[in-house]
Amino acid sequence: MIPLVEEVLDRKNLKMAVPIISSESNDPSVGPRAYFLQVSPEEEAALVGLGTIAKDGFAFNIIRFGFTMPTYVLSLAHLYGTLEDITDLIMKILSDDPFQAIILDLARSNPNIEQGEPDIDLIYDVLNSVKVTQTDWLTQGGIMEKATHLYIRSPAGDLESFNFWKAKLRSLDFSDPFIGTGALIGPWKCLGCFGVDHPTGLCPFPKVPGWQGPPIPPRNTAPPPLPNATFPYDHQQAPLPTHFDSSQYPRLSQPSRGTFRKAKRGRL
Ligand SMILES: [Zn+2]
Repeated sequence: MIPLVEEVLDRKNLKMAVPIISSESNDPSVGPRAYFLQVSPEEEAALVGLGTIAKDGFAFNIIRFGFTMPTYVLSLAHLYGTLEDITDLIMKILSDDPFQAIILDLARSNPNIEQGEPDIDLIYDVLNSVKVTQTDWLTQGGIMEKATHLYIRSPAGDLESFNFWKAKLRSLDFSDPFIGTGALIGPWKCLGCFGVDHPTGLCPFPKVPGWQGPPIPPRNTAPPPLPNATFPYDHQQAPLPTHFDSSQYPRLSQPSRGTFRKAKRGRL
């Protein structure tokens, strides 16, 4: 890659930092990756003007480096549908008119977003960036269930607007009679990579070839969520109360109890 950029710029001794995982990628063992190049302002303008460089089946896009708002916004427990069902529910909630108006307001006041676009394009740019993932999650009652994580591109251009955006997202009601009542959990603080969207035991980075950081802890030592995680309770839809006794509460759309693994109390 370096020789190719040097050829384009007609210079030598180009400096490039080690690649990092692109923020859009959830699996660190595959791409896309981002590479930082140290160039002069004139060279930056020339490279960004090209947009894409490709040769011999190898291609990369060039973008100007700037501060990017985080895409991770929240995690939910107690949603029991398939990933597809849960993604549909989240998309339905985010596509409500009042939420579209919030997206548009933020995008229109963001100096980093091209303002020539029609309203609907600005809104769909954000909605189309939605990515929903799931990981195993150990409840405070020691029940293994799925945590659902929401990633979405921010229409906010500064930190204050971003905090407003995140608060709005976190105040939405992610509930459905068939899927469950989504309860906010996390953010976590991974001790391996300091990420906030997973506990240390589920850190994806130790799977990166050549990883030099802490090893992957055994799965059964994954820490429980932070003690101040909130559990909005809706009796009709039966989410898990903090001290869950499975013999007392019927649960919605739940596989047979035999599939849940109970953790030892001493670990909590
Ligand atoms: Zn991590």
